[in-house]
Amino acid sequence: MTMSKESGPAAEIAIEIRELHKYFGKLEVLKGIDFTVNRGEVVCVIGPSGSGKSTLLRCVNLLEEPTSGKIFVSGNEVTDPNANIDKIRRSIGMVFQQFNLFPHLSVLNNLTIAQRRVLHRSKAAAEKVALQNLEIVGLADKVHAYPAQLSGGQQQRAAIARSLSMGPDLMLFDEPTSALDPELVGDVLAVMRKLATDGMTMMVVTHEMSFARDVADRVIFMDGGVVVEQGQPADVLGNPQHERTKTFLSRVL
Ligand code: ADP
Ligand code: MG
Repeated sequence: MTMSKESGPAAEIAIEIRELHKYFGKLEVLKGIDFTVNRGEVVCVIGPSGSGKSTLLRCVNLLEEPTSGKIFVSGNEVTDPNANIDKIRRSIGMVFQQFNLFPHLSVLNNLTIAQRRVLHRSKAAAEKVALQNLEIVGLADKVHAYPAQLSGGQQQRAAIARSLSMGPDLMLFDEPTSALDPELVGDVLAVMRKLATDGMTMMVVTHEMSFARDVADRVIFMDGGVVVEQGQPADVLGNPQHERTKTFLSRVL
């Protein structure tokens, strides 16, 4: 029998995080995180402010450099110093609380610029993909609008369509509805729900407990840089096992 070197995860695993630690200076923000996200799975990450949720997401696409531990995305080790980070990043869509659209570009050009520059698609091909994705998020009629002419919810849906236009294998969402007026939250969640139903692998940091309950396959509760508990939404949200989870839920539910 041949000895194989330490093997990466199986193909059906979209994200695998092993013993992830992250320090900012002397502050240990992630204290040994381990979990996997399967292909097609929707994982919601909940927890109090400052618990390390954003840092965790940002480590997955190396917007933050892990201090130690390993992260695999679609079987590729992103924490390998020789990894092709640009290629891996291209396979990961990220949507932030702030929409980060280019204000001087139309919605259409916001959606085509990276397709053309990074994926080297023709103008016609990029516009076709952009229009398909604007259709998905319900913004086909805003193709020539500028970001300032859109509501926050429409801007966020345009940002989601922009991410989708790059053809990601998985999507990371960091509190995508937290900056929105309450009446605009539903439209954005509906788009995310549709993506989930269509089989997109998603990791979603959110305070929207009803979304987590209805859409997530798994809920992860973080506090103080560790995963305190995780499981099916009905269990974690409805019957939490840990005092810290109970305290958190009693504040947000
Ligand atoms: P959450 O998203 O759960 O609110 P964060 O991941 O943003 O938490 O932050 C976790 C901790 O790390 C906080 O104490 C925060 O102040 C700290 N932190 C986050 N980013 C940085 C940074 N770039 N430099 C220093 N400290 C940071
Ligand atoms: Mg955060």
